[in-house]
Amino acid sequence: MKIHEYQARNLFIEYGIPVAPGNVAQTPEEALAIARKSGFPVVIKAQVLVGGRGKAGGVKVVNNEADLGAEFSRIKQLNIKGYTVERLLVAKAVDIKKEYYLAVTIDNIKGDVVVIASAEGGVEIEETAKTHPEKIIKFYMQGNKELDEARWVPVAAQLFSDPRLQKSATAILQKLIKLFFEKDCSLAEINPFCINGEGNLIAVDAKIIIDDNALDRHPELVALRDMKYEDPDELEAKSKGLSFVKLDGNVGCIVNGAGLAMGTMDGVNLLGGRPANFLDVGGSSNPEKVLNALKIILRNKDVKVILINIFGGITRCDDIANGILTALKQIQIHVPLVIRLTGTNETEAKALLTAAGLTTFTSMRQAVTEAVKHTR
Ligand code: GDP
Ligand code: MN
Repeated sequence: MKIHEYQARNLFIEYGIPVAPGNVAQTPEEALAIARKSGFPVVIKAQVLVGGRGKAGGVKVVNNEADLGAEFSRIKQLNIKGYTVERLLVAKAVDIKKEYYLAVTIDNIKGDVVVIASAEGGVEIEETAKTHPEKIIKFYMQGNKELDEARWVPVAAQLFSDPRLQKSATAILQKLIKLFFEKDCSLAEINPFCINGEGNLIAVDAKIIIDDNALDRHPELVALRDMKYEDPDELEAKSKGLSFVKLDGNVGCIVNGAGLAMGTMDGVNLLGGRPANFLDVGGSSNPEKVLNALKIILRNKDVKVILINIFGGITRCDDIANGILTALKQIQIHVPLVIRLTGTNETEAKALLTAAGLTTFTSMRQAVTEAVKHTR
């Protein structure tokens, strides 16, 4: 789950990471009140959960009240990558002397938490990684969450030669790592991380992504969710007890168990198709879940075929078959259904489906091959 910059900034404040005084505003009057309090110049920034705000004209430093009003209205009317601007952050502009990059994130390939730092801040780190990989410092945590200073001074020393800045950067990094772990982040990023006019370090932007799977232990963070950025199908699936992730292919998949669901997606890819989704109906499925799964998948207009792949253990194949039959009565299924069932109560299930005129498969390979055929 992504959170807005003003929300991430509040977490920075909670953890003692320095930011410029400011607040979020919905109206020009609110913006003006914040600016008067902090003093001009101020920077105003569109609060949208997509990258490249700056390039889209959503970040602007303004020097006086008249410009503030005009720029506030202009930014509020922007459409940034399909998203309207509801709120703007108004903060005292930082007199930036130099921009750095600092982040804590997860390296999925190494399976480790990594601290990433660079003296090339402000720009997109992905760009620097491509053009000047030598300018990026990476420090792997190797499973050790210790925050002791001695561990981080050498990282800070690679960015700053001044001992005072080293000390200050070390303290900020320790706080950022603490926040990263305590709030179950998958990213905590400061870009740009700046030296200001007084020669002090300050976070000029704040980006935080929370691991969705950890939200159950952070009700305070769930409250920050901006529904505008959530996929309605994923929300609906979650409320119905289904694990669902939308993908960009055209083979709708309904599977029992996360492992088989992953295996099914691999199978679809292997045999030349592309899955439209990951969907796990769970271990002990009831007919209702199959109906809900079909409804959600059918909303996706790209779907050309639905592949139902069930390996009955605790899940009973006849429950699944009854779910399919109920769905056929209740909803219009305008794409072919390819059904593979094996395991518990397979015989009963196949009898039910055959009586209704549906074909079933026992072999996963045959079922996937058949499903992919319908996408050609
Ligand atoms: P992003 O483009 O969405 O990452 O937005 P940022 O908040 O990082 O701002 C983009 C750029 O605008 C920064 O890299 C800075 O160069 C500039 N900027 C943002 N805030 C300030 C500020 O307070 N003072 C100055 N001088 N420039 C700023
Ligand atoms: Mn930024």
